[in-house]
Amino acid sequence: MTDSGVKSYPRLRENISVNALVIGGGIAGYLTAYKLASTGRKTVLIEGYKLFSGTTGHTTAKITYMHGDVYSKLLKNYGVSVAKRYYEAQRCGMDAIKKLRDEYDIDCDWQVLTGNVYSSESSEVTQKIYCAMSDIGVKVALKRVETPVGSALAVQAPAQYAFHPLKFLRALPVNFDIYENTRAVNIDVSKKTVYTEEGGIHADIIVVATRFPIIQSHGSYFLKVRPSMSYTAAVKGPILDGTYLDAREDGLSIRPYKGGVTVGGFDRRTGTGDDRAFYGLLSAVSRMFGEREIIAEWAAQDCMSFDGIPYVGYYSPELRDIYVITGFNKWGMANSATAAMLISDLADGKENPYEELYSPLRKRRGVAGEFLRNTVRSAAYLITGNLHFPLSTARSIMPGEGKIVRLHGKKRAVYKEPDGRLYATEAMCPHLHAELRWNSETKTWDCPCHGSRFDRYGNILSAPSVRSCKPHAKIEEEKATEAKRTESGNTNVK
Ligand SMILES: Cc1cc2nc3c(=O)[nH]c(=O)nc-3n(C[C@H](O)[C@H](O)[C@H](O)COP(=O)(O)OP(=O)(O)OC[C@H]3O[C@@H](n4cnc5c(N)ncnc54)[C@H](O)[C@@H]3O)c2cc1C
Repeated sequence: MTDSGVKSYPRLRENISVNALVIGGGIAGYLTAYKLASTGRKTVLIEGYKLFSGTTGHTTAKITYMHGDVYSKLLKNYGVSVAKRYYEAQRCGMDAIKKLRDEYDIDCDWQVLTGNVYSSESSEVTQKIYCAMSDIGVKVALKRVETPVGSALAVQAPAQYAFHPLKFLRALPVNFDIYENTRAVNIDVSKKTVYTEEGGIHADIIVVATRFPIIQSHGSYFLKVRPSMSYTAAVKGPILDGTYLDAREDGLSIRPYKGGVTVGGFDRRTGTGDDRAFYGLLSAVSRMFGEREIIAEWAAQDCMSFDGIPYVGYYSPELRDIYVITGFNKWGMANSATAAMLISDLADGKENPYEELYSPLRKRRGVAGEFLRNTVRSAAYLITGNLHFPLSTARSIMPGEGKIVRLHGKKRAVYKEPDGRLYATEAMCPHLHAELRWNSETKTWDCPCHGSRFDRYGNILSAPSVRSCKPHAKIEEEKATEAKRTESGNTNVK
C-alpha cells in the first residue's frame, strides 16, 4: 500500500514530559495514541522513521475474523470460551474501525467482501475450521467454491472488510503530538523515561508498539514471539469478488484491490530461506492468473505468538505503567483497534472483556513444543553465528549482493554496489549478537533470531534492534581494488 503526498512531522530535539507516550507509528501505536488522547491525556507518539513505514505500510489490510485455522487450534487447546472470546475480539476491532470510518466519512478504498478460507492440504482441515467456528456460534457456510487455485472446499463468511490503512489512519483527527525520525534508543523503566538521539521523554504511561518489543530486560519477548516474513505482489487485471486464504501458515492470501489483486504468502522465518521466495510467488501468480502485469512486489514481517493470540497489556508483572502490543500473527488490523481500546481501559483502571485473552502475563498450555522449538532455533542461530568465522573475502561477493566475509582480519557484513564499491558493517545484530544474513530478494541484512533488519548499508529498518550496525572504517583500500575488479557490472539489483 503506497503512502504518497503525506504530511511530515518534526524530530524531537528537547526533553519533554507528557501523560502518555506511544513508541511506534504503525497502526497499533497510532490507534492507541488516538485512543489515549481521546481520554484527555497529553499524548505523544514517536516513530523511528516515517509514520507507517513498518509492516502497516506493507500489509494487505483485510479487516476480518477469517483467520485461517486459528479457531480449530484455540478450540482444541483452550476450549470454547477462549476461541469465542478471540472471535469477539476480532468483531470488536472490525466494528471499531468501521465506526471511525463512518463517523469521519473517511475515503479509504473500503470494500465489503466475502471471506473464504480453504486448505491446500486437505478438506479435513477445512471441515475442522468450519466445525470449530460453528461450535463457537459464528455463522459460516461450508461449500465448494472456485478459488484462484481451483475448486476447493471453503469456509465462507459474508461481510468481511478490506481497506487502505494509510488513507484511513491519516484521515483520523490528530489529537496527539507526533515526532518522526525519533527513535527510542534507551528506556529507563524506573524513571519512566525514554531517551531518543536528541531528547528524552518522561511519561506517566508508556506503550511499546514497535511490532517487536524493544525492552529486553523485562517480559522475555525474545522467547515469546518469533519473526515471520511474507512476500506479496500486486497484480493488475484479475477480478475477484472475495478474499481467499489458504489455512496453511505459508499458504497464499489473495484479496481484490483496485482493478487487480494482491497475492501474498511464502511465509518463512525472517532471515531464512528467502532466496527463491519472490520466484515462487510470481510462479504461483502466473499459474493462477496467466501472464499479468506485476505492479509491485514487497516483503514484510510480523511477530508470531505461539498460541495464536496477540500480547496486549502490561509489559511484565513488574512494569504496570508500561504496556506492550505485539504478536499479531499477521492479523493486526482488527486486533490493533481492539488493542487500543484495551490499553486505554487498563490505563484508566477500567475492566475490559479482552484483558485476560490478550494478557502478556498469561501462561498457556498446549504450545510448549513450539515454544521449545523456537528457543532451540534462536539459541542455535546465536551459537553457530558466533562460532562461524568466514574464510571468503570481499572478492567472492557478486556485484549487487552482500555476504558475511573476512575483511582486514575481522568478520564483516559486506555489500558490494553494482559499480564495485564496498560497504562493510559489523556482522552481528546489535540486538543480541546473532549473525546477520543477507536477503538477496530484498537486499537487506536480516537477523534470523528476532527479526531485526538493516538496509544494505547497515542502517536499521526494523526492531527489536534500536540502532544501526556500526560501519567498518578501514575500507578505502578494498574499495579501490574491488572497483577495478568489477567493471563488468551487475544485473541482480531490483
Ligand atoms: C505481508 C503481510 C500482509 C498482512 N496482511 C494482513 C491483513 O490482510 N489483515 C490483517 O489484519 N493483518 C495483516 N498483516 C499484519 C499487519 O499488517 C500487522 O500486524 C500490523 O501492520 C502491525 O502493525 P504494528 O503497528 O504492530 O507494526 P508496524 O506497522 O511495523 O509499526 C511499528 C513501528 O514502530 C517503529 N519503531 C520500531 N522501533 C522503534 C523505536 N526504537 N523507536 C521508535 N519507533 C520504532 C517502526 O519504524 C514501525 O513504524 C499482514 C502482515 C504482513 C507482513
